[in-house]
Amino acid sequence: MTWAYEELRAGTQAALAALIVPEMMAWIETGYATHRPFARDLNNGEKELLKRYFPPRYVEKVKVHYVSAFVRPELWGDGRGVTYYDAVTGGVIFVLQNGEDCDRLLLHEMVHAYQYKQLGLSGFCWQYILTWVKSGFVYREISLEDQAYTYVDSILGGNTERVGEYLGY
Ligand SMILES: [Zn+2]
Repeated sequence: MTWAYEELRAGTQAALAALIVPEMMAWIETGYATHRPFARDLNNGEKELLKRYFPPRYVEKVKVHYVSAFVRPELWGDGRGVTYYDAVTGGVIFVLQNGEDCDRLLLHEMVHAYQYKQLGLSGFCWQYILTWVKSGFVYREISLEDQAYTYVDSILGGNTERVGEYLGY
């Protein structure tokens, strides 16, 4: 008999992800509710920036809360933002740490808002966690993060392709 290592590994990874995904979903729901009372609408400059690349109706749903200190999950290293999504209303809240280069930060989180819209909360969390587990827990190899970093580098480098065309979904 041969050991089906690949299948065993895939099954183990999926089982591990299944333990983590509900926690991530609960964390996002709690974060949304916690920040909702403090979040403001995007200002005109922020909207204008994001509407160059993202569907305007998505941008209109976004609220933002800037904070001076940011509590982040360990895996994010020195990340300065998080996107919370409410699956019921489709509402999006960016929680961003004050500092340099806010345009880059806004654009990065807007890619995540777009991903939430396309994949749904559960689909987003599954893809996020499964690719994290498969990479051996390497933050930069999470597929949804890689897309966000790559796309934002691309548009800040002068590419004007809109997000859906660039990501292909
Ligand atoms: Zn990110």
